[in-house]
Amino acid sequence: MLLEMRKIAVNYGKINAIRDISIAVPEGKIVTIIGGNGAGKTTTLRAMSGMIPIVAGEILFEGTRIDHLPAHKVVAHGIAHVPEGRRIFKDMTVEENLRTGAFLRRDKPEIERDLEQVYDRFPRLRERRVQRAQTMSGGEQQMLAIGRALMSKPRLLLMDEPSMGLAPVIVEEIARIIEEINAQGLSVVLVEQNAELALELAHHAYVLETGNTAMEGPAHELRGNEHVRAAYLGL
Ligand code: ATP
Repeated sequence: MLLEMRKIAVNYGKINAIRDISIAVPEGKIVTIIGGNGAGKTTTLRAMSGMIPIVAGEILFEGTRIDHLPAHKVVAHGIAHVPEGRRIFKDMTVEENLRTGAFLRRDKPEIERDLEQVYDRFPRLRERRVQRAQTMSGGEQQMLAIGRALMSKPRLLLMDEPSMGLAPVIVEEIARIIEEINAQGLSVVLVEQNAELALELAHHAYVLETGNTAMEGPAHELRGNEHVRAAYLGL
């Protein structure tokens, strides 16, 4: 397994946001986490990337414990987080935003090469490289957030609600980008409210309910599951 999260718990003050969640991410796969509002999806991703401490359990990346590490050390291990709401730096240009993704790297020639690769993947970012990020559309900002994460040269990409607030045609574009990135070898953990999209893209899926893992299985099996269809697919 590339990443293994074993029986973790996370609290916000006195609130138990996550009680007992175990998730495994195989190398090269897309794993999705679905669930209702407040189920603990965002908290799970934040625990994976070291943004919040866990109070029980353990997280291993390539067999090494990472759950005690600060977020910047987790990035250095090869985990990049595309947060909910993009969180791009609005007053900075597109290119400045992309370069912040490489802030821990010292391999200058490779950083320039990776920047060109991001521009090849997202031609609209190249066209807008000196534009202030604030003036970009929602879809472009999502592409920028993904591009910035790619600039850290990750092995695992954590994506929180990439489709949120985007028009259907842009959602499709983002979906194809996720598939392409994965086809080139990057593993992905995808958190989505849009369960239909998530189960279509993912190889494996977890369903969270009130801070616990309620179900897991191959994504195509969960798509056919009665409970999942009724509760999350509206069928
Ligand atoms: P959504 O899809 O609505 O974003 P989610 O599945 O991502 O939901 P989380 O955001 O992880 O759920 O929240 C899990 C639980 O933790 C919820 O009960 C939420 O109210 C609580 N929670 C989240 N963030 C905080 C915080 N900063 N302070 C206190 N409680 C929080």
